Amino acid sequence: PGHCECTSRPMYGAEMSRASLPRNMIENSMFEEEPDVVDLDKDSTVVYEPRSSRLLVRGLGENDLDDEEEDYESSARLLGMSFMNRSSTHNPSSSPYNRQAPPRSCSCSSARMLVVGVFILVLVASMAMALYFLPGCTFTKAGCGKANSSTPMEPSYPNSTNGELFPWNELRLPASVRPVNYDLSLTPNLTSMTFTGRTVINMTILHDTKRIVLHSSELNITKATFQDKSVEVKVLEYKPWQQIAVSFPEDLKVGQVCVLTLDYAANLSHTYDGFYNSSYNDKTGAKRVLAATQFEPQAARKAFPCFDEPAFKATFLVRITREPGYITLSNMPQAKTTTLPSGLLEDEFEQTGVNMSTYLVAFIVANFTSITRNVSNTLVSVYSVPEKKEHTHYALDTASTLLHFYNTFFHIDYPLRKLDLVAIPDFLAGAMENWGLITFRETSLLVGNQSSPLDKQLIANVVAHELAHQWFGNLVTMRWWNDLWLNEGFATYWQYTSLMTEFPQLDLDNVFLGVRFKAMAKDCLNSSHPVSVSSQVTTPEQVSEMFDSVTYEKGASLLLMLKTTLPDGQFRKGLIKYLDNYRGSNTVTEDLWNSLTQVGVQESVSDMMRTWTLQNGFPLVTVSRMGGHVTLTQEHFLLSADNATHTSNLWHIPVTYVNDSCSSAPSCRQIFTLRNKTATLNVSDSVKWLKFNYMNTGFYIVHYGDEGWATLIDALKTDINTLTPHDRASLIHNIFALSRLGRVSFRQVLNLLDYATSETETAPLTEALSQLSSVYRLLDKRQEQRLVARMKVYIWGHFGQLMDSQDWGEEESVSRQELRSVLLEMACSLGRQNCTDQATALYDQWTNSNQTKQIPGDLQRVVFSTAAQSDLRWLSLMEAYSSTTYDSEKRKILQALASTQDPQSIVCTGLEGGIIQTQELPLVISTMSDGFAGHLLVWEFVKENWDRIIEKFPVGSYPIQSIIKSTTSQFSTQTHLEEVQRFFSSLKERGSQMRSVQEALETIRLNQLWMDRNLPTLRIWL
Ligand SMILES: [Zn+2]
Repeated sequence: PGHCECTSRPMYGAEMSRASLPRNMIENSMFEEEPDVVDLDKDSTVVYEPRSSRLLVRGLGENDLDDEEEDYESSARLLGMSFMNRSSTHNPSSSPYNRQAPPRSCSCSSARMLVVGVFILVLVASMAMALYFLPGCTFTKAGCGKANSSTPMEPSYPNSTNGELFPWNELRLPASVRPVNYDLSLTPNLTSMTFTGRTVINMTILHDTKRIVLHSSELNITKATFQDKSVEVKVLEYKPWQQIAVSFPEDLKVGQVCVLTLDYAANLSHTYDGFYNSSYNDKTGAKRVLAATQFEPQAARKAFPCFDEPAFKATFLVRITREPGYITLSNMPQAKTTTLPSGLLEDEFEQTGVNMSTYLVAFIVANFTSITRNVSNTLVSVYSVPEKKEHTHYALDTASTLLHFYNTFFHIDYPLRKLDLVAIPDFLAGAMENWGLITFRETSLLVGNQSSPLDKQLIANVVAHELAHQWFGNLVTMRWWNDLWLNEGFATYWQYTSLMTEFPQLDLDNVFLGVRFKAMAKDCLNSSHPVSVSSQVTTPEQVSEMFDSVTYEKGASLLLMLKTTLPDGQFRKGLIKYLDNYRGSNTVTEDLWNSLTQVGVQESVSDMMRTWTLQNGFPLVTVSRMGGHVTLTQEHFLLSADNATHTSNLWHIPVTYVNDSCSSAPSCRQIFTLRNKTATLNVSDSVKWLKFNYMNTGFYIVHYGDEGWATLIDALKTDINTLTPHDRASLIHNIFALSRLGRVSFRQVLNLLDYATSETETAPLTEALSQLSSVYRLLDKRQEQRLVARMKVYIWGHFGQLMDSQDWGEEESVSRQELRSVLLEMACSLGRQNCTDQATALYDQWTNSNQTKQIPGDLQRVVFSTAAQSDLRWLSLMEAYSSTTYDSEKRKILQALASTQDPQSIVCTGLEGGIIQTQELPLVISTMSDGFAGHLLVWEFVKENWDRIIEKFPVGSYPIQSIIKSTTSQFSTQTHLEEVQRFFSSLKERGSQMRSVQEALETIRLNQLWMDRNLPTLRIWL
């Protein structure tokens, strides 16, 4: 699926604008904004529903770490007080928004923390209570109880629910039975929020076996028959592994065809996966309910019993019963509708003509309306709630263009007769690529025709990603989740590549560059993993964790590197071969390399790619030059807080370079493959300087040595255009990374940045501001007020003029929109008068005109966030939030609301519950984490409400990864490190084993180290 983008970086400009780009993961969670190298801040959007509103907050001061059970009568009050105590001993005047001196007692009109606290309370109160607990042992490898504790030699079986032995003891299903077709009949009841179902599974037996084992979760199986429908069989269930089984006294023989029929009843899910219920308020304010599905990765089993692993492909025939007034949708076109004696209608869909994995099955019951168009024999439709029909046109245009593009490019036509894109009011991921029925968040699909190109860029990204999946993922599917990158790396790669070709005006090359930087930020840690994971990926938690930025973004980056290494056209030829070889079936990574070899790609290329996909991390290439001899040395670029961590990983690196005589045109590029630890390359003595990793298409970082950096900086100061904007951004990125690694001083970083006073291009400026704001945020959270103030002076000195010269009117160019939003968001968040005045004026015009005088889309976030710093305007924003139906605007307003640092009267506004959608919780959390006022509070909130959070968002899932990252990545002290450590280790099976926990701890240690190393220097320098 696609991660939802969490545009949650309202406080500091660079981050923010970055976050607004649908970076990558479109489906699984939303788009997240990932870390800068330093502090790994990430955001995503998720939702969640706490069950109660009790908030305990401790101040994180020195003494109050242990008193858990103090009885706080008012959590909001407590929040306010602990915050105030803390901030009054520190410097209260440092905030960009003039944090106020905290009052002594906590009353409604005072503490800024209270605002935030109340905001969270509102959120809490407004969310429904989650009803179900996950079984406590779901995520443990061994499942519940002692059943699996015996020695591995003698297979021991766990006990079924009824006490009998369950005939299987592995998480993966046996390979002896293969499903061929599912016949599904579903009867949802949107009043009682329940459904009944009958699933008829046709299977063939591949090996003699006495058992059929398949998945089922939270389904109450009422009747089961085998073969002849009169023969009832007993179904055993082992809940911890979500498996059911039928045992037979005699072997089922190889080649035999079997039919298992299961009748069952279940509740519609209250979380965001399985067959879940959702609702929205229509124009009249009436609540409308609907039901939709989200099965990836392992939730089809919550809607129907099935062999829920991607390699068990089968065909499906779906029937759904509905009331008149609703429509139903599924993967295939509707075949017929029958009126049942009860007056209900039964829609039957055509049987799928292609074999499909269970995670791609989908169905929806709702009152949606649609617009349609025919595109080369496929009927393309965009569905939404009736009120938003006029926001569907852009998606239809984009999908039509891209469908045509992919059909042509891949040489294989999209195989279904229809393709629906559906905006679901309550949806966790960014989107999900279900075959023929792609589901989206409303914010990932709907956009008004008058919206800014930047808003459209986001929609186009998500649509392009999901459409690419119809080939990479749906037609050819990874065999197991360890190779998820074959789905997500490709979809992410194609989302940028297809848009760069078909919609060059959307300026995706800058976004894709940011994606490569972002992937490195995660992959430079010890906790990273290879793109193609060979170690165990079996538990639901491990499967969920595969949906991360290494899989999506590093995957896409490696494909780009491969493409630029091969002769023109060969990459495409190889991929067409791959799709053709494996259409309708499943693959492992090696199949991809073999397909490339089949079209004449040298074996050495496959060897090269294996070094990138089977190892985690990426290389640092160090360059040293003696006249015409250039020595290249590689090592693992591993950020580590203790010097003891080293690896001997080596890569086959397609090192590209240009030099001063020819440096910006693609034809200048030369390639040298570095296979060993060290190699020498010869250049002419007259070459003045070399720039490696042309256009930053390679997944490595380069260190030029003192002299090499100096000559490059000189060259840039002489003529900025001697290097392409991407190469300039690449230098900025690399030098910050090297400073984190301790290879260059921060002084050297600043030497390079001096050239940037004459920089005007989006890519390098975005990178520079993003890096600086990371440092700024860390210092801010450490309360290093003098440094924070000087840092601001530095930023004004280098970029102030450019910030002030930005235009606030309509702007057509996406690139310019990106740039000005980055610049202005930073300017306003740091309190630059010129900026805040303009933003406030625009906001007042907007409200005074009753919202008819539009704010340009790319400026909305800076305008709203600036407005939110004043009490009165915050209130009017809150009103605007409830009344706005336009989703992208609504989301920007929400971020602004969450960014408040200034409480005052806001606390007493008597906020109503139910205003904020549950799905936005992660966005709120990450936005608040950025601000000084909110970051400690949300961390406390997450700790206190952890169990409720994981009821809604499974352990390991993308939203959880994001919540952990956004709440912990700005800590840089020993106290916080221990605190984070203590909290997560206390979780045990409720999350202590997550990779994101390791990542969080590593990040804090690295922040700590960076502070130790650089604070003294910064004090001198600034
Ligand atoms: Zn995807």
